[in-house]
Amino acid sequence: MRNFLASLRLQKDNPTFLTAQFQALSSQIPILYVLLIINALAVAVTHLQSAPLWLSCYIPVGLSVVCIFRLCWWETSGKDVTAERAYRLMKITISGACILCVAFGGWAIALYRYGDAYQQGQIAYFLVVTGISCIFCLMHLPLAAVLTTVITFSAMVATFMFSGNPVFVATAVSGLFLILPFLRVIDSYFQNFVGLVRLTEELKQKRAEAEELNRVNSRNALHDQLTGLANRRSFFVSLEQRLQKDPSRPPVIGILDLDGFKPVNDVFGHAAGDLVLKETARRFSTLVGEEGIVSRLGGDEFGIIFPCLMTRQAIADLGQALCAAVRDPYEIPDGSVRIFGSCGIVYPDSGKYTAEELYEKADFALYQVKSKRSSGVEFFSAEHEKILTQRHLIELELQANDFDKELKLDYQPIVELRSGRVVAYEALARWDSARFGRISPEAFIPAAERTAVIGRMTRILFAKALEALAIIPRHLRLSFNLSARDICDHETSMALLAMITRSGMDPRRIEFEITETALLSDFDAADQVISMLRAAGISIALDDFGTGYSSLSHIHRLGFDKLKIDKAFVMNLDRDARCMNITRSVANLCQNLGIASVAEGVESEEIAEGLKAMGVRLAQGYHFSRPLPLELAIDYAARCEVAASARNSLSA
Ligand code: C2E
Ligand code: CA
Ligand code: CA
Repeated sequence: MRNFLASLRLQKDNPTFLTAQFQALSSQIPILYVLLIINALAVAVTHLQSAPLWLSCYIPVGLSVVCIFRLCWWETSGKDVTAERAYRLMKITISGACILCVAFGGWAIALYRYGDAYQQGQIAYFLVVTGISCIFCLMHLPLAAVLTTVITFSAMVATFMFSGNPVFVATAVSGLFLILPFLRVIDSYFQNFVGLVRLTEELKQKRAEAEELNRVNSRNALHDQLTGLANRRSFFVSLEQRLQKDPSRPPVIGILDLDGFKPVNDVFGHAAGDLVLKETARRFSTLVGEEGIVSRLGGDEFGIIFPCLMTRQAIADLGQALCAAVRDPYEIPDGSVRIFGSCGIVYPDSGKYTAEELYEKADFALYQVKSKRSSGVEFFSAEHEKILTQRHLIELELQANDFDKELKLDYQPIVELRSGRVVAYEALARWDSARFGRISPEAFIPAAERTAVIGRMTRILFAKALEALAIIPRHLRLSFNLSARDICDHETSMALLAMITRSGMDPRRIEFEITETALLSDFDAADQVISMLRAAGISIALDDFGTGYSSLSHIHRLGFDKLKIDKAFVMNLDRDARCMNITRSVANLCQNLGIASVAEGVESEEIAEGLKAMGVRLAQGYHFSRPLPLELAIDYAARCEVAASARNSLSA
C-alpha cells in the first residue's frame, strides 16, 4: 500500500526516471486522445436526434478539437525534454487528464436522460471504455491513471446506481468492484516499469564502464604505460602503415639502447629506473618532434621512426643528439645518475622492405656499436648486409640439415701450468657444411639459438662427447659447452643426464661450461638446472668471465666449480696493463673463494709464465695446442705426460 501511495508521487529528485516516464507516456497519450475522440463522436452521433444540438454536437466537437490540439502537441513537441520540463509537463498532464475526464464524464451523464435504454447502455459502455483506456494509456503516470479511473467509474456508478433500472444497478455494482483490480493492475505495471528503468539505467552504466575499459585497454595495447610513448606493437603498426602508404620511400628508423641502465635499476631501485625511462622518453620526444615517432620497444630499448625527408647527415646529427641527450645527468631522489646511449640506424634505399626487415637491420647496426663496446651512432652498411645475409643462409641451412653427419667435435687440451700435464679437454663444435664448407661455431651456435635448433644440436654433440669420453684416458676430464638456452631448459638438461646414465660414464669426469647470458635471461630456471646437474656429480664452469656482466653475486649464489678467464684479457696480458690487472683480480678472487681458475687463449710462453706467477692453475690456448681431432688430442696428452715425467726425473 505504501509503495502504491509512493508511486503516485512524481520522483522529482530522479531525473533519469522522470525523462523515461515522460517518454513512455508521450508514446501512449496520443492513442488515448484518438480513442476518446472516436468514442465521444460515436456517442454524439447516436444522440443527434434525441438531445439538444449544443449537447449532442457542439460540446463533443469542442472537446474533440481540444483533444486534437493536444494530440498534435504531444506528437510534435512532446519528445526529448529535460527532466525538469518532463516534471512540469506531467504535472500539467495530471490536471489536464482530470479536467478532460470530468468534461467527458459530465457530458456523457448529461446526455443520459435524453436517450432510450439502448442509448443509456451506450453511455455506460462509453464511461467504462473511457475509464479502461485511461488506465492503460496513463499507466506510466499512476496518479493520472488512478484519478481518471476513479472519476469515470464513480460517474458511471453514481449515474446508474440511482437509475432505478435493475440492469444498470447491477452494472454499477460490478463496475464498483472493478475499480480495485484496476488499481492493482496500475500499481503492479508501474512497479515493473520502475524496475525496468532501473535495470536499463544499470545496463547503460555497465555498458559505459565496459566502453571505458575498452578504451583504456586499446590505449594500453598501443601505449607504454610508464612513459606514455607508443609501444612495440604500435611501433610496428606505424611502420607498416608508412611502408604501405609509400612503398618506394621506406622510413628511416633507429633503435636506441641505454647502456648502464640496469645498474641504475639494481642499485637505486625500480622507482629510480622508472624516472630515468620517463625522462629519456621526454628528451627523445622533444628532439624527434611531432613529425617522427618515438616508442618504447621494451626494457631500455627505444624505437624511432624519423621524420620524412631528412637527409642522411641530418639523421646522423639527430642520432648523435639523441645519444647526447642520454648522456646528460638524470636527477633521481638519491642524487643524479649518468648513463649512455647507443643507436643503430637504417637509412634504406628505395628498395622493398618489410617492417621486420627494417627493424632487424637497425637492431643489427645497434648490435655492432654495442659489440665495439662504444656508445654512439652506427648506420646499417653494405658490410652489415653481407653478414646478415650470411646469417640468414646459415639459419636456413640449419633448418634443412642433417647434423648428425656434418657436426663433429674438436678437443682442446686444458693443461696444468705447474706440471705441463693435460688434465682435461674442452670439446668444441665444428660444422663442415656440404654447401658452405666449415662454418665457425661463433656463427652457427647463435643461429641455432635463434632458430631453436640448439636443443637438438646440443644432444647430438653431447652424444659424440660421451663416445669420446669412453676413449679418452680415465684420468682426463671433458668440458662441454652449453648454450644459454640449454641451461634454462629442463627438457635438454634432463636428456643430457639420461644420456650420461645410459653411457655408463662417471659424471665426475664431465664439466659443463656456461656463460652468464644464461643467468641473465632466466636466473631461477638456470639455478634449478645447475643445482640438478651438480647434484648428479657434474661440475659447472662459468665461461668467458670478465666479458659480460661478471657479477660476484652470480658466483656466490650459484656455487660454480670453476671460472674461465676470457681470452680477451689473457691474450693481451703482456701488452695491456688493464688486461693484466683484470686477470690477476679474477685469479685472486678464485683463490679466495677456493674455486679453480682456467685461463683461455694462452698464445705464448711468456703469458703462460705470467699466469703461473699469478697463481692460475689451469690454462688452454694455441701455445699448448689448438683444438684437435680426438686421436691427436689423446696423442698430445700422452706426449705431455712423457715430457712431464722426464722433467720430473731430471729435477729429482
Ligand atoms: P669458448 O667456449 O670461449 O671457446 C673457446 C674458443 O676460443 C674456441 O673457439 C677456441 O678455438 C678458441 N681458442 C682457444 N685457444 C685460443 C687461443 O689461444 N687464441 C685464440 N684466439 N682463440 C683460442 P671456437 O671453437 O671458435 O668456439 C667459439 C665459441 O663457440 C666458444 O667459445 C663457445 O662459446 C661456442 N661453442 C663452441 N662449441 C660449442 C658447443 O659445443 N656448444 C655450445 N653451446 N657452444 C659452443
Ligand atoms: Ca667454453
Ligand atoms: Ca670461453
